[in-house]
Amino acid sequence: MGATIDATPAGPRRTVTYVFPVYNEAENLRLLHASVLAVTEPLACRYDFGFIYVDDGSTDESAQVLADIAGTDERVTVIELSRNFGHQVAVTAGLDLADADAVIVMDSDLQDPPPVSAELLAQWELGYDVVYAQRRSRQDPAFKKLSARAFYWVLQKVASVDIPRDAGDFRLLDRKVVDELRKFRERDRFLRGLISYVGFRQTAVQFDRHERHAGRTSYSMKKMMRLAADGIMGFSVAPLKLISRMGYFISFLSFLGILYTLGVKVFAPETAVPGWAFITIGLFFLGGIQITMLGVLGSYIGRTYAQSQGRPLYTVAAVRTGSPDRDMESRTR
Ligand code: UDP
Ligand code: MG
Repeated sequence: MGATIDATPAGPRRTVTYVFPVYNEAENLRLLHASVLAVTEPLACRYDFGFIYVDDGSTDESAQVLADIAGTDERVTVIELSRNFGHQVAVTAGLDLADADAVIVMDSDLQDPPPVSAELLAQWELGYDVVYAQRRSRQDPAFKKLSARAFYWVLQKVASVDIPRDAGDFRLLDRKVVDELRKFRERDRFLRGLISYVGFRQTAVQFDRHERHAGRTSYSMKKMMRLAADGIMGFSVAPLKLISRMGYFISFLSFLGILYTLGVKVFAPETAVPGWAFITIGLFFLGGIQITMLGVLGSYIGRTYAQSQGRPLYTVAAVRTGSPDRDMESRTR
């Protein structure tokens, strides 16, 4: 696969930590760990690797499987969240705990092929601080492809920062980017947007996104819509702007209406009908518009409210490391 690490001159040993958000991936984890080991082993002469698995409140055997993996590899850390907090928060928990020169964030269903992470490292060696893996192709249901396309199109149009298309959360982040990201504690998180927002030197690596190895997507329609809303509302005030535009447009229409009524009164008074239909239709129309717009306002106010509550983003129930004496209990961020 394209770039190789060996092409770059040998520098000092550096630490690299993988972060895997895990939600009901029991059937994928062993293969995932084995595939990642196959990629990292040849690079062990240059890097000290660490692996953080964030168990995002899985209800299957994931916790057990992770404990087994941690038992065989002391570089593995398992963070068990106290319930399901969602993908973006699970990744955040991993980033908060990672203490490495670079962090690689990767899904744990093998949709993000482990060999691509070596290419991310190669770009990092060239001096990039963020290397995101961009999908050249994806093996997803047609609906998911279509909705993703529409989402990225809208995002590109309205977002205040340039958020790359077709790039998920599969990416490498340099330590300084991770340090910066830790300062962003907003609740409705869209990490890709935040990463674009913090800046630094960013580049892309192309890859073909695989099908999920086992199990099914836990990104329900609801979670997907929520993520899309977090992306759009978190990085744009376009919906708010829409209110004023809508307002201008309606005013313009009513101005036309006034002209029409005056015209009828002056030039053809005999055709003027008592306008009950016009009034009732207008009433409903404007009522509808007002309620919709109140909804838009409300969603921003809701966000402000959630943020102002300042609750910790997540609570870690337990942190398990490869060696039992380093266990930590209960921690809140
Ligand atoms: N995931 C998670 N919490 C959730 C949902 C998903 O940690 O609430 C993890 C999941 O285990 C996987 C990654 O996030 O590693 C992406 O999820 P999924 O494969 O379901 O999403 P898709 O690839 O279909 O977008
Ligand atoms: Mg997936």
